[in-house]
Parts: sequence; structure tokens; C-alpha cells
Amino acid sequence: MFCTHCGREVVAHASFCPNCGGAQPSNVGNRRMVRPIVGRKVGGVCLAIANYLSTDVTLIRVIAVLMLLIPPFPAGLVYVIFWIVVPSEEYAAPAPPAYAAAPPPAGGTPPPPPAPAPPSTPGAYPQS
Ligand SMILES: [Zn+2]
Repeated sequence: MFCTHCGREVVAHASFCPNCGGAQPSNVGNRRMVRPIVGRKVGGVCLAIANYLSTDVTLIRVIAVLMLLIPPFPAGLVYVIFWIVVPSEEYAAPAPPAYAAAPPPAGGTPPPPPAPAPPSTPGAYPQS
């Protein structure tokens, strides 16, 4: 799928675009925590938390770094635990679709033509 704000490709179940931070209206409310592949800096833990909480990933990263610098809180250990527990996107089970899947074509029906390529210029999508 493509971001409704900047037009760049985002992962199918992301609530926010990793490029511009824009909310993806079709996925807001998707509360499944996975570590996305696109946009991760280290392990994708901060991005997973940001997507889960529908928050800006920069805010989560700043909080994570601050917690790393404050001695009593074992932020590094928490990060490693999240890294192990939260599944990466490529291994996670697919999210249930937010829309009804189209029924398969009847026997003998030729397959539909391929969808046209999305426009390459950002901003070609309607702002919601
Ligand atoms: Zn975007």
C-alpha cells in the first residue's frame, strides 16, 4: 500500500508512514505489534511500539535513548526483550484484512488485467 500523505510505499498494516509520519486511515486501530522492516533503525522495536501506540516514532526513540542514559532503568534489557518477543514483520502471521476479500473468479474466467502502476510523483494521492 502507499502512504496517503507522501505517496511512498508503506508496509501493509502500518498505522503510520515511516517516511512522513502520516497516519494511514485504513490501518488506524490495527493494534497488532510487529517490528516493521521498512523504517527500522536497529531492531524495529521503537517503530513497533510507535505503530502500536499510534505515536510518532521519533518520540519513542527519544524516550528510549533517554531511558538508556538514566542508570536505574534497564532500557537496554527491555529493548532486547522486545526484540526477542515482538515478531518481525516477515515472520509474523498476516493481519486480518480490514476489507472483505474479493471472491475468486469462477472457473473459465480469464484473470483480470494487472493493476496500473502507481504514479511515481508524491502528492498524486488525494489528501484524506
Ligand atoms: Zn508518508
